[in-house]
Amino acid sequence: MNLAHLLTRASHIWPDNCAISRGAQLHATYRQFAERAARIGASLRRDYALNTGDRVALVMKNQPEYLEALYGIWHAGLVAVPVNAKLHEREFAYIFSDSGARLCFVSPELAGKVGDSITTVVTPGEEWQRMQHAEAAPVVEVDRDDIAWLFYTSGTTGKPKGAMLSHHNLRQMLLAFFVDVEQLDAADSMLHPAPLSHGSGLYNFAALYSGANQVIPASGGFDPAEIFALIAHYPGAFFFAAPTMVKRLVEATDARSADTSNLKNIIYGGGPMYVADLKAAMAFFGNKLGQIYGQGECPMTITTLTRAMHRDASDARLASVGVAQSVVQVKVVDERGVEQPAGSVGEICVRGEVVMRGYWQRPEANASAFRDGWLYTGDMGVFDADGFLTLKDRVKDLIISGGSNIYPREVEEVLLLHAAVLEVSVVGFPHPEWGEEVVAFVACHVGLNATEAELDQLCLDSIARFKRPKRYVFVDSLPKNNNGKILKTALRDMLSLEDVSSSST
Ligand code: AMP
Repeated sequence: MNLAHLLTRASHIWPDNCAISRGAQLHATYRQFAERAARIGASLRRDYALNTGDRVALVMKNQPEYLEALYGIWHAGLVAVPVNAKLHEREFAYIFSDSGARLCFVSPELAGKVGDSITTVVTPGEEWQRMQHAEAAPVVEVDRDDIAWLFYTSGTTGKPKGAMLSHHNLRQMLLAFFVDVEQLDAADSMLHPAPLSHGSGLYNFAALYSGANQVIPASGGFDPAEIFALIAHYPGAFFFAAPTMVKRLVEATDARSADTSNLKNIIYGGGPMYVADLKAAMAFFGNKLGQIYGQGECPMTITTLTRAMHRDASDARLASVGVAQSVVQVKVVDERGVEQPAGSVGEICVRGEVVMRGYWQRPEANASAFRDGWLYTGDMGVFDADGFLTLKDRVKDLIISGGSNIYPREVEEVLLLHAAVLEVSVVGFPHPEWGEEVVAFVACHVGLNATEAELDQLCLDSIARFKRPKRYVFVDSLPKNNNGKILKTALRDMLSLEDVSSSST
């Protein structure tokens, strides 16, 4: 059941196919990829005395060696701990200590940031080269429930927790990909503009299982001009992107001249895609967009709004995250855990074999995340009569003002209708009279302006009066984490600071 067998399989079926490319250059065929992984895995056990179940961290930007290191780790029966490369040094140290990682693969440019609390292998570097010449050993067998990937949650609030994803969980995710998301084949290319430590990396199994080429942008990051060039270069181009990336592609200056005829499909997810942005993306890319809703705790696999479901869809359907994927059951419950009928908003719960085994060494977090075998996602949502789920907001982002529930997403959708508005985020802030008041953070397109009066009028035209923001804060851009998720906690902190400074003046 070791995921490393997927690579062995691919190397037998497609030994000479491109497995990994860097930009337009071949980095490794499947045979080379499998050989390197086997040698790296052997070296990890032999030279570093690591044993089955030991954790190995990856603090790497997107680069071809990322995939080789991952499969080396699995080959040796070890647990991969992919870390968001944009975290702070203190956060790296926290994850090393929380996971008990014994070794860390690190990109040369990040080597100075990981400190000396852990043994490092600079990748690529001298030691990495040496490991690739170690004598290969067979794949170390593991149990299906052994952990393959310790997925640290993005930690938009509180300390990140490690979601334990087993080899079996990830095989279930792979199965659902082919049933519910997309079909790939050996002529396709999976681009990786989004971080390999998260969704894009999780989708690597689908490329590997299909014999497709995995293309790492030479810049190691997300640059619209480079992505358009890669799409033009690689037939059957497929990739996962955060909604903010899709928006940036559509609005990029290179978009007008881009040839996207090679594009097979973009799967977006990981954060809300606003209907206005989605329509703009569909007008630009055509019917080549699909959506998934998932979370680290249930990787990539809660619901899907497939490419076919996007075609001729109503606005309400485009605003949804689609239907339950095949390997899970999804329900919406009230505060007492009672399942709600279609039309009623509640917390989204999911169960199935793709759901994580639990949080690493967090009994209390596990006790509140799991009840009666269901994972409580912390997301609010509502099913329609046809089984399409619409996300509201995180339970903790819900605003309760004057006793009424206000879902920030609903207000954000309205404010985005203003032509000058680039991005927006709505949060609740404590208010002595109302409990919370609605505050909108608004960033406008360069050179354009929206006034409070115009935005207020838009709200009056579309939503109930009590949902209108009482306060607007205009900013140049909104704070986001590495995955493009807007950090509402940082926005609330900004308001608290403002409050402190205005009360002290
Ligand atoms: P992470 O564990 O970092 O992948 O974050 C998962 C969270 O991102 C989910 O619990 C949702 O709140 C949000 N999310 C994921 N997919 C979507 C989506 N398609 N639309 C809106 N929010 C999403």
